[in-house]
Amino acid sequence: MAVRRLPETLIDRIAAGEVVERPASVVKELVENALDAGAARVDITVLEGGRRLIRIADDGCGMGPDDLVLAVERHATSKLPDDSLEQIRTLGFRGEALASIGSVARLTVTSREAQAPSAFAIEVEGGARGAVKPAPGTRGTEVTVRDLFFATPARLKFLKSERAEAEAVTDVVKRLAMAHPAIRFTLTLGERKRFDLTPARDEGGRMARLGRLLGAEFEENALPLTLMREGLRVEGYAGLPTWHRPTAQSQYLFVNGRPVRDRLLASAVRGAYEDLVPRGRHPLAIVFLDLDPGEVDVNVHPAKAEVRFREPGAARGVVVSALREALARAGHRATPSGAAAAFAAARPGGQVPLPSRPPASLGFSEEAAHFAGLAPSAATLPEPEPEEMRHPLGAARAQLHENYIVAQTEDGLVIVDQHAAHERLVYEGLKRARANGGVARQMLLVPEIVELDGEAVARLLEHAETIARFGLVLDGFGEGAVIVREVPALLGDCDVKALVRDLADELEGAEAGHALERRLDEIAATMACHGSVRAGRRLGAREMDALLREMERTPGSGQCNHGRPTYVELKLADIERLFGRR
Ligand code: ADP
Ligand code: MG
Repeated sequence: MAVRRLPETLIDRIAAGEVVERPASVVKELVENALDAGAARVDITVLEGGRRLIRIADDGCGMGPDDLVLAVERHATSKLPDDSLEQIRTLGFRGEALASIGSVARLTVTSREAQAPSAFAIEVEGGARGAVKPAPGTRGTEVTVRDLFFATPARLKFLKSERAEAEAVTDVVKRLAMAHPAIRFTLTLGERKRFDLTPARDEGGRMARLGRLLGAEFEENALPLTLMREGLRVEGYAGLPTWHRPTAQSQYLFVNGRPVRDRLLASAVRGAYEDLVPRGRHPLAIVFLDLDPGEVDVNVHPAKAEVRFREPGAARGVVVSALREALARAGHRATPSGAAAAFAAARPGGQVPLPSRPPASLGFSEEAAHFAGLAPSAATLPEPEPEEMRHPLGAARAQLHENYIVAQTEDGLVIVDQHAAHERLVYEGLKRARANGGVARQMLLVPEIVELDGEAVARLLEHAETIARFGLVLDGFGEGAVIVREVPALLGDCDVKALVRDLADELEGAEAGHALERRLDEIAATMACHGSVRAGRRLGAREMDALLREMERTPGSGQCNHGRPTYVELKLADIERLFGRR
């Protein structure tokens, strides 16, 4: 077989395969072009998920007739004026998008420069370029893409349903609109106006845009981020750890205004939330990382979704710190959405199981006595002082079912899961103590002997030093046993045997490569689980209040080690709504 040069159109189609994967990639490239052209407004219309038609209109700088001819050619761009890839400040730079789209679809570009008396248009069909002609058109550029992939039927076959493609388009526009809050975006899918985002003038407007894109719950679940370090700037929002999702789809990562799917940044988010969200769940995070364009290589992939940092460690570090800092500032705050879900469950009234009806013959007082029997055995406390109710978590009023602390706040009530809250406090306490140089120990009056299999003993002894840093001091005790002499004081009265067995299991599960830091957290978590006030322990008024105050002081106490909230708050307004008073 003879080697031959491929015809231009085929070369273009091969190249197009990498740039234009699906309608959403076309939308991404065209909107990026509009943004690079300095548009203040971008209007996007998509029919049949983009398969039939994609139209992007902008009010940017436009192109004259000569530029139009070049624009649809491969490797033609206005964006690398000094032939250098070192300082890329535009979203585009490869000069491939229009050529690629023109080679696999029917493309029309109509454009008019600001001072020009009229617009010009050029058409490209499956790679065949027409001539530039005068055309009607307002200032800016309108790009229309019809019958995407008609020239590459193989690719056409891989398109998903209209809905799935439309969703992917929406996601792309969403991400670009998040990164460019000052630009007006409209998106129309078929007959439906999906959104019309007015330009945001300030932080409030930016938040409102994010709220429109991410749902109403966003505002009450997001903590603002901002951190500047060694020329790296991080802005954005950290979702509360209790607001977690099944996929990482709700992570919006941007580098210099470019939406990216970057492993390093994704791992930074994972790292920051490591012991806050349950395994397999993902927080919401919006991270805008800005740095000198010379410090990052965006020319990694034709779709420009991946980047490489010159100093990956610094980039990762600043993102982790920014997220951690925001989360620490949130202190004990937990997501309010949990309460909303509970309300949704409570709302269909009349489903509260009533006691069997008291017989009609009973007198009033007897009837009252009958219902009085329903009152939970709660230790209700006297009316608290207004002072005490001013605490974010309020003043403890009662303990129900020996696990739920009910506290009264100025404008509502708080229910705390005492077991979960205490577990988190012990965990944070252990971590803090370790960071500060040592965990207070408590000597056991009678050392505890724990029998285990030989492997478990070996594992424990191998890590004895690490474990001792948490205040648990153990030694070998003949074959198949360890002896425990001291335990962390924070744990109080705990089942030492069960704790040691769990630790041995935990150490077995721990991957060898696991960072020490992570392993220490796991040890702390296992210990905390054993040290916490089990459900079922009665607490006095002072103990309950102490727990609430400790929660307010402790960052991360809004959720337990398994990512569940440790408390829920109900506002009086919500309670009134429950009773149809609002
Ligand atoms: P790139 O964006 O990488 O330069 P494209 O193929 O997307 O490559 O676009 C080629 C060129 O066409 C751009 O460099 C730009 O000069 C011009 N262009 C494309 N779209 C627009 C637009 N919406 N407004 C003004 N100029 C545009
Ligand atoms: Mg481009």
